Amino acid sequence: MLCSQCESEIQDGMAQCEVCGALQPPDPKATYFERLGVPRTFNLDLDKLAKAHRALQRRFHPDRFVSRGERQRRLSLEHATALNDAYGTLRDPLRRAYYILKLRGLDLADETNQVRLNPMFLMEIMELREALDELKGSDTHVERGRIERDVAHRYEETLSSLSHGLDDENATLEPLAQRAMQLKYFKRILEDIHALEN
Ligand SMILES: [Zn+2]
Repeated sequence: MLCSQCESEIQDGMAQCEVCGALQPPDPKATYFERLGVPRTFNLDLDKLAKAHRALQRRFHPDRFVSRGERQRRLSLEHATALNDAYGTLRDPLRRAYYILKLRGLDLADETNQVRLNPMFLMEIMELREALDELKGSDTHVERGRIERDVAHRYEETLSSLSHGLDDENATLEPLAQRAMQLKYFKRILEDIHALEN
């Protein structure tokens, strides 16, 4: 591909022309990990991730491309948006888990890929929900704290087992998908408990 500004040869996937610095459109095939230049792993260093995001946001900041004309400014916005999408997904453990599953071929957002949760787990969730319902309206902060610690513990447990499996290329996807969905349930319950506190 040739640079639209100086006509130098640009390698595939390069975001900027090495000769004149002109932006190229974001590479639609790049993974979120590639966009942020971090290793493709579930166990990301979140400080490094934030630093990588900030550095790239500066590099593609629209202010730096104003003098290069409208098309370049627009491309800088496209890069900024692509970076924010990548960062928003990778910094959140749940969204990161779903994303890695999708990269590995199991897109849980697709209805036809729904994984069946085991009945024991669904029972546990139902009981938690009932326990929370009973809390409403009275002075029950001790009981609420106990449930919150329980659920937080289950959340951490699930996260930790996911984090081993998601980085193992040989792990079977379906159990991982189950755990990712369980993580989502625990996260939602924790959010509901926090909402009760306000
Ligand atoms: Zn150029």
